[in-house]
Amino acid sequence: MRRILEPGQIEAFAEGAIPRLRLPDRTRLFASRAQRLRQLGAPGAPGQAIGDYLRLMAAVAEAQQLALRTFDAPLPTATQLARSHTHGMPLIHAGGWPRERAWRDLPAQMCAAVAAAPDVPPSAREACERLRTLAPQQLEAQADALLAARADAVEVAAAPFLMAALQTYWVALASRLTPEQVAQLDVPGLCPMCGTLPVASIVRADERSQGYRYLHCALCATEWHLVRITCSQCQGTANIAYHSIEGAAEAVRAESCDECHTYRKILYQEKDPNVEPVADDLASLALDLLMSEAGYHRGSGNPLLWQAPEERRADSVSST
Ligand SMILES: [Zn+2]
Ligand SMILES: [Zn+2]
Repeated sequence: MRRILEPGQIEAFAEGAIPRLRLPDRTRLFASRAQRLRQLGAPGAPGQAIGDYLRLMAAVAEAQQLALRTFDAPLPTATQLARSHTHGMPLIHAGGWPRERAWRDLPAQMCAAVAAAPDVPPSAREACERLRTLAPQQLEAQADALLAARADAVEVAAAPFLMAALQTYWVALASRLTPEQVAQLDVPGLCPMCGTLPVASIVRADERSQGYRYLHCALCATEWHLVRITCSQCQGTANIAYHSIEGAAEAVRAESCDECHTYRKILYQEKDPNVEPVADDLASLALDLLMSEAGYHRGSGNPLLWQAPEERRADSVSST
């Protein structure tokens, strides 16, 4: 098994001081996300301007939580585990993992939640209708495009609902595995569980991980440790800066790197114990606008908000 660690990290890991991975808790991951989305979209809250969208996504997250009560997928075999360790590859690699056919029921479950939610924009309803009528082959092709983040091949309006289905599938798997089964990757910026880019990072405040920073996977919600004041895109440490919007929540900042001109948001649980990477990232679009105006690129998108390649994030939200 490969281990590429900074000198200081080696000692820390040897002592078991820093949990390298935090795997998702299937009993509450999506319920917590739903709760946070509703909180952030409430009147007077930071996401008020896109409150309708946050509430719609909360309904979807609740459907994800409900689906996980009964849904399960076959876990990696001993051969697949061994291969991942031998090659230092993500264990359940999003790009090539064979999806069990049963996953195709999940988009319909997400869309049923959309149909039942109040005040859903017609465009979202129509996108769900189209998603429900896709032939299995088309559905698989859309899923492949989403997992590979091929924005040009993705149907933007339906993407959040399909992504929610895929998240449910990958969390069903990741939550049944153990940190010891997951190999260390050569690429610190990718999820060691599924190979997906992180949506944001979070400095944890619980006893187990007090003060440690983790990257949060946009797909399987696994969190992996990355030392603080390090670019999550290029791992540079020389030109890192932190940005926030005056008067906005202190728990959300943008961490920028002047070597690769990229940024990702970083959340501080000690400032707000309820921060949730997907929800807080989605609800802080104003910070994205600020960073874009300052000339920085987002490291990777939010899984619940897709846009045509030429569109700007804020525009796409205001038009829904
Ligand atoms: Zn992952
Ligand atoms: Zn960088």
